[in-house]
Amino acid sequence: MNRGVKQLDELTQKQLETWAKEAQRRSQLGQLPTYIPQLAQVNPQEVVVQILTLTGKSFQAGNQSLRFPLMSVMKPFLLLNRLVELGEDEVFKRVGVQPSDQPFNSLEQLQADDGWPRNPMLNSGAIALAALLPGQNAGSRCDYLCSWLNQTAHCQLVLDQAILESVRSAPNPRNQRLIARLQGSGYVEHPDLTLDTYNQICCLSATISDLAELGLLLVKPPDLKWQVPSRMVKALMMTCGLYEASGQFAVDVGLPTKSGVSGAVLSIIPQQGAIACYSPPLDPEGNSVGSLFLIQKIAQSLGLSVFN
Ligand code: GLU
Repeated sequence: MNRGVKQLDELTQKQLETWAKEAQRRSQLGQLPTYIPQLAQVNPQEVVVQILTLTGKSFQAGNQSLRFPLMSVMKPFLLLNRLVELGEDEVFKRVGVQPSDQPFNSLEQLQADDGWPRNPMLNSGAIALAALLPGQNAGSRCDYLCSWLNQTAHCQLVLDQAILESVRSAPNPRNQRLIARLQGSGYVEHPDLTLDTYNQICCLSATISDLAELGLLLVKPPDLKWQVPSRMVKALMMTCGLYEASGQFAVDVGLPTKSGVSGAVLSIIPQQGAIACYSPPLDPEGNSVGSLFLIQKIAQSLGLSVFN
């Protein structure tokens, strides 16, 4: 579609505020996750959104200074880092690109694939990539990724120690089984170090503006070397970013999107900008009800699907 004006720029602040209120009403249909104790204690009413466009516009609603853990929204950026630094051959020897109709932490999927991590948006695939980060210990590996992103995206990600303690206080048995299986198939050598690295990466926290800035990295790669990796990351966000819901969302909305169990969601509008949302209650697939509603409303109203 080429109407001379970028569709995202046609959004108005008033529209966004109205839709954010509707997202807040709809979010009551979701549930807070309970397997990470601290995530069950956040304010379920919070709806925060920021949209940044390549033309320099910004739209926002909700508490812009709120910090929240990114959780699985970090997975595309872990993949981006490894692709930029190691190249696609090395990375895709360690993780696949096939979608899955199984949940984010599915051991059954990993078993069915004989221990091969099917894609980098599943926990198994992200854990396999966390094993490839440089550094002596989990802290230095997480710092490495965090500093790389802070420098390139001009954001300020910070490790949230309280949520990390909460994750460590209730070790997730599914992730432990995933990592044992990955060790068995040779994709992870140091299971404790790797699981702790993965957990720390998930506990990097951001404001909504940090998340939108991260999104712009994928819209406008800072360097020629980033172009192919960035295209691959967006393709995998489209096909795998919302787990079992990815196919339906591609049909309904048509934007590369990644969710996290904290309620954070990031969508990319190629050539135009990024939409960052946070609303904690989740649907049965583990995706934020309010954030997905809001992104769908914006995308459908402005005709943003990449398939238009
Ligand atoms: N750290 C979380 C886990 O592995 C991330 C999951 C998610 O955000 O979807 O369970």
